[in-house]
Amino acid sequence: MTILVDMDDTIEQLLEAWVERCNSLYGRHASVLDVTDWNVAAAFPGLTREQVYGVIEEPGFWKGVLPKPGAAEALRSLAEKGHEIYIVTATEYKHLAEKMDEVLFRYFPFLKWEQVIVTRRKQMIRGDILIDDGPHNLLGGAYRKILFDAPHNRFFDAEGNGMIRVRNWQEAEQAVERIAAEEKRCGEEPFLVK
Ligand SMILES: [Mg+2]
Repeated sequence: MTILVDMDDTIEQLLEAWVERCNSLYGRHASVLDVTDWNVAAAFPGLTREQVYGVIEEPGFWKGVLPKPGAAEALRSLAEKGHEIYIVTATEYKHLAEKMDEVLFRYFPFLKWEQVIVTRRKQMIRGDILIDDGPHNLLGGAYRKILFDAPHNRFFDAEGNGMIRVRNWQEAEQAVERIAAEEKRCGEEPFLVK
């Protein structure tokens, strides 16, 4: 299968580093649990959107972004099982190089630039599955949908929207395996309606 995988807050912990940097820069005490909205600035009342979003454009910021536990192991294991992995990210062009060097190729060295697709229109990308923490990237896509749990998507009805919610990479890998088994069964039984 072709597995599309989001980057921010799916394979790495952008939010943790972002909230920490805003706290130290602006003397705040916010937690990632306060980010219950896709707009991160909403967790920092009194700060402008530019102040909050400017943080991730600071040179060196991405050096502090760590991978999600188990993400590298799961992606490597799925690749070894013969699945094709593509990172599909809506990354801003301004910090793209730093993010690739300091996060993707540093912690996921088995992935190559050829496996990276940069777009804000993920629904235009073809693949069997998308794993993403943004419901807006999953809705309307022609892929099977795995929603990576995050404080900002906790009130979203994943199941009601045809998505599988996973809380960590162990669950994500299991969900992929379940989908792979289903697809295999459908392929073997041509009269089975999906
Ligand atoms: Mg994301």
